[in-house]
Amino acid sequence: MNHFVSKNGELFCEQVAVAGIAREVGTPFYLYSKATLIRHFQAFDSAFAGIDHLTCFAVKACSNIAILNLFAGLGGGADIVSGGELYRALAAGVDPQRIIYSGVGKTEQELHYALEAGILLFNVESAQELARLQEVAADKGVKAPVSFRVNPDVDPQTHAYISTGLAKNKFGIPIDEAFDLYVQATGMENIEVKGVSCHIGSQLTLISPFIESLRKVKTFVERLAAKGIGIDFIDLGGGVGITYDEEQPPHPRDYAAAIMKELQGFTATLILEPGRVIVGNAGILVTEVQYTKSNRRTGMKSDQDAGLVKKFVVVDAAMNDLARPSLYGAYHAIVPVVEEKGAGREVVDIVGPICETGDFLARDRELPRVEQGDLLAVMSAGAYGFSMSSNYNSRPRVAEVLVDGSHYAIIRRRETFESLIEGETIPSGAEE
Ligand SMILES: *Cc1c(COP(=O)(O)O)cnc(C)c1O
Repeated sequence: MNHFVSKNGELFCEQVAVAGIAREVGTPFYLYSKATLIRHFQAFDSAFAGIDHLTCFAVKACSNIAILNLFAGLGGGADIVSGGELYRALAAGVDPQRIIYSGVGKTEQELHYALEAGILLFNVESAQELARLQEVAADKGVKAPVSFRVNPDVDPQTHAYISTGLAKNKFGIPIDEAFDLYVQATGMENIEVKGVSCHIGSQLTLISPFIESLRKVKTFVERLAAKGIGIDFIDLGGGVGITYDEEQPPHPRDYAAAIMKELQGFTATLILEPGRVIVGNAGILVTEVQYTKSNRRTGMKSDQDAGLVKKFVVVDAAMNDLARPSLYGAYHAIVPVVEEKGAGREVVDIVGPICETGDFLARDRELPRVEQGDLLAVMSAGAYGFSMSSNYNSRPRVAEVLVDGSHYAIIRRRETFESLIEGETIPSGAEE
């Protein structure tokens, strides 16, 4: 359920007409619904009300500080994967004691920064990272709270690029090797062993892989207990999918119920790292049609000709603004912001202005006929949308807008040409 609804053929975000925002803010832009963000966070978080838990929003899914601040206000924490994300989380007012740090490649500076900030947990992903963390913590004279990210070797049955819990993926420590590392870590002066974590992938539409990996983690925690190593936190990662098209992901309620049932008898605090399921359907990307064109084989003229190869709708948003279609072949529903009554339908490719054939938002998509100047809404773009955007083709990154009831606020202003070259210099030319 989200608050992007069509009234008499016109798309609204809560009580605000999307077309009105486009007139004032310009296109393209990301648009988020505060009511939807709150609703999704609470639906997820309250599903676990039966047990001691902490919902750490995966910052990489949608990193704007206004949105992180919103979740912090609802009692949420943050799952971060870089020093930059730590900076954002702190700037957004997230309690450091609700921040956990994942990722395979934490640098020495990043470890320093996170220790300084006093975060809740480091999800350590290798023996070398553990050694480095011990060194940095010793240097500071503190104890680093550690959870190891184990790789349970479970197939999440999702897209290959977003599956992370298979032995062949770069993430985590094979569950068998992890045991020795725990034993080793308990003997380290500046390491405090606190938890076990795993994250098997993203956009999962089944509960069973989560349960399969949780069972492996449970067995592992029991093995550790037998060795006298107690665990305060069990972290199950993120990964619950959303509906982009026809997918039928589990409802958080059912997901939570299945997990809580498995965890009966365990006293550890459960940590969850949801990203997509909270923000995915709470944001859209709004873009304007620049041109429409048809490509035909040479010598063929009319629409009826067999020579018609493709119709293209060229819009002002591109793969640098929303990478998912190009990167994963991902599907996003696309709808006109204002639908003309009785408009015929046609099958088109919706493409951006970037000089790459891979620059498309949708291919062979049936859409009501649109014209130059029409607005289109790319739905379900709240997760891995703006946060994955880049400046490729020297395109300033777009604005982000947050609607709250009948008002909206720009939570990130559109970049300018000046911001594109900020930090660049032409060397004075002196050769040494
Ligand atoms: C990306 C990521 C998440 C969030 O995944 P979603 O599919 O967006 O819920 C959680 N934990 C870790 C370690 C991640 O890398």
